[in-house]
Amino acid sequence: MEDNKSTGTLNFIEKIIEKDIENNKNEGKVVTRFPPEPNGYLHIGHAKSICLNFGLAEKYKGRCHLRFDDTNPAKEEIEYIKSIKEDVAWLGFDWGKHEYYASDYFDRLYNIALKLIKKGKAYVDSLTPEEIREYRGTLTSPGKNSPDRERSVEENIDLFERMKKGEFEDGKYLLRAKIDMASPNLNMRDPALYRIKRMTHHRTGDMWCIYPMYDFTHPLSDAFEGITHSVCTLEFEDHRPLYEWAVEESGEKIKPQQIEFARLNLNYTIMSKRKLLELVEKEDVSGWDDPRMPTISGIRRRGYTPESIRDFASRIGVAKSNSTVDFALLEHCLREDLNMKAQRVMAVLDPLKIVITNYPEDKTEMMEADNNPEDINMGKRMVPFSREVYIEKDDFMENPPKKYFRLSPGKEIRLKHAYYITCTEIIKDPGTGEILEVHCTYDPESRGGGTADGRKVRGTSHWVSAFHAFEADVRLYSHFFKSENPGDVTGNFRDDLSENSLEVLRGCKLEPSLKEAVPGQSFQFLRKGYFCADSVDSKPGLPVFNRTVSMRDTWAKLQRDAAKNKEHKDIKSR
Ligand code: ATP
Ligand code: MG
Repeated sequence: MEDNKSTGTLNFIEKIIEKDIENNKNEGKVVTRFPPEPNGYLHIGHAKSICLNFGLAEKYKGRCHLRFDDTNPAKEEIEYIKSIKEDVAWLGFDWGKHEYYASDYFDRLYNIALKLIKKGKAYVDSLTPEEIREYRGTLTSPGKNSPDRERSVEENIDLFERMKKGEFEDGKYLLRAKIDMASPNLNMRDPALYRIKRMTHHRTGDMWCIYPMYDFTHPLSDAFEGITHSVCTLEFEDHRPLYEWAVEESGEKIKPQQIEFARLNLNYTIMSKRKLLELVEKEDVSGWDDPRMPTISGIRRRGYTPESIRDFASRIGVAKSNSTVDFALLEHCLREDLNMKAQRVMAVLDPLKIVITNYPEDKTEMMEADNNPEDINMGKRMVPFSREVYIEKDDFMENPPKKYFRLSPGKEIRLKHAYYITCTEIIKDPGTGEILEVHCTYDPESRGGGTADGRKVRGTSHWVSAFHAFEADVRLYSHFFKSENPGDVTGNFRDDLSENSLEVLRGCKLEPSLKEAVPGQSFQFLRKGYFCADSVDSKPGLPVFNRTVSMRDTWAKLQRDAAKNKEHKDIKSR
């Protein structure tokens, strides 16, 4: 993994670009594009590509186009286009007026296809799909020429025009490039350029019944738009000769250069729109924006910030070989960002009632609390305190082991922003023995932390006043898949879906200020993690919270452990 953020060195794509600028290639211009196929919602892998393409354009004062690769009408939907635009904008990128659709080029593409036929570089083939496969040959043996390969130019033009007019049924003919059936690169063995397919297109309607293939459309669209650097993922490496062939044939002035980089893989995560669609269709999730989905809309709803994703993208850098990134790194970037931004609040997720027996029954005191100790500009707020408060059940133990510093019989703890309390009595249900409430006394001198005699306590609990708390649902999430590489054992990724990736906690006691939480707003629930008011299910005055991420930073711990190990080794080797 190249971390070009911390080292300040150029990644390999930047090196290529800087050399091109130096040589005044394309008059020193840098134009990139992000070219999604509108057949699903964008995921975090796309975010890497978006950050890269828009980032390069920003860095080199060029521009980045948003182009919808909509040549496959069967799978494309307006809903996807809308969501893609929303997601790219949310990540913080602006394509301005440069919004394009491959379908806008259908006429130009058709004319170039005709030009190719006239030059003897394309022909109409009538082989069936099985025959085509058979004629193609294999990686180790050359292909065979189709009997139609030597069809005359006139006949090819006539057939191609009639294909366009709709005279033939779907699949009857194919327009193929005439390149080389013996090429060691299978992509160069007379690849298909156009197929007959009767489908209503979301933009061109029923105007066309022939559609250009991706490998033909993509390079030409790049060339038409004057893209200088066409950045794509590694699986297109073998398509590069075909890309260059098509660009050459386009006759456009700017000849875009295809550059491949390694796609993002994350453990415990699938990143394929086809598979994500399956989760949606089989109702494993509530939709594309289910907070467990690795889609941009899912993680946004979960509470991820655009800044954290951009930071993540820059930390993982770009490389030329595939690898898998630890999900913990993404969470680490998120915590770092939320740590600076999220207001601290108190919320008790699994409440235990504490009654402070020496505190007046009808008294309420307002306790001052920092909104964010990392940023004093975020100010303070007042939190109500009263005779009855809730703390977390696991902040109390009747028979604690040694070194348990939280509340237990006879022991004293601090209530954050409030008083010291000492446990005096446990009230149990006489029938079941279940703990109903715990009685304590408080030290009136200890308000805000200190005591008259300077005694210290080790444990601090967060709390919420029982009289002022409001109840809400809180959803906790864990890895959506049980396996780091979903489907690696059985071949079906759905076999690895975790049964408990979502846990809904009802009746959580939240501090009153949270009642006004705005959907999408993030908070740190002290000691419990970062949470976000759900943007779909929250109602005014009745928010529902999603846990975005817990407090435990496994990535930071890994880094610390690695540093420690290194230190040990260094000492040993001295
Ligand atoms: P999927 O396999 O999820 O369907 P795709 O590559 O078919 O993805 P496109 O809509 O064609 O989806 O992708 C748009 C752009 O995003 C392409 O340039 C593609 O290379 C890039 N991209 C897709 N997945 C990743 C990924 N995991 N990491 C980096 N870039 C990606
Ligand atoms: Mg694709």
